[in-house]
Amino acid sequence: MSKAILLSGGLDSIALAYWKKPDIAFTINYGQKPALAEIKASAAVCTSLRIEHNVITVDCSALGSGDLVGENAISLAPASEWWPYRNQLLVTLACMRGVGLGVTELMVGTVKTDAFHADGTEGFYERMNQLVSYQEGGVRISSPGICYSTTELIQMSQVPASILLWGHSCHTSNIPCGNCRGCHKYLYVKQQLGYD
Ligand SMILES: [Zn+2]
Repeated sequence: MSKAILLSGGLDSIALAYWKKPDIAFTINYGQKPALAEIKASAAVCTSLRIEHNVITVDCSALGSGDLVGENAISLAPASEWWPYRNQLLVTLACMRGVGLGVTELMVGTVKTDAFHADGTEGFYERMNQLVSYQEGGVRISSPGICYSTTELIQMSQVPASILLWGHSCHTSNIPCGNCRGCHKYLYVKQQLGYD
């Protein structure tokens, strides 16, 4: 019986990890360009919060799209970083590892502003929870931050800047490019929180 989190090393999942203090965190290298930086950020967060860190590597880059694989997104993408069925993939991979480790709940760091793509909505996570918990192991999928913005989630979690700023948000590279939607979000949130 343990609680797990899908930890990408971005601001949302770091704040959620600090708020909920799960037993185990899964970071997935699915072939995205910034994978190594995401793993490094997640490892630092897990060390400081004493969360067991479990890295899963499955190269799906041949099936990716957009900024995260260094290509133009396919035509129906709602944003440049959109990758088809990405959250479905990540939840599935984490549960594939987690169910054998006794994980009974997997939390995901989705926030309100992710709802511009279908796999960032409450409806999506309700359906994922139904589908995954129906199967052997009965793992529940939850998204405790989904009614908050990133800034609200960070403030509510009270995560200190020393941990939050480990976060890596760039979609295109292991070194922040300063130019992608992930980098823009990072800078915007930092500004909203009054960090410099
Ligand atoms: Zn970037």
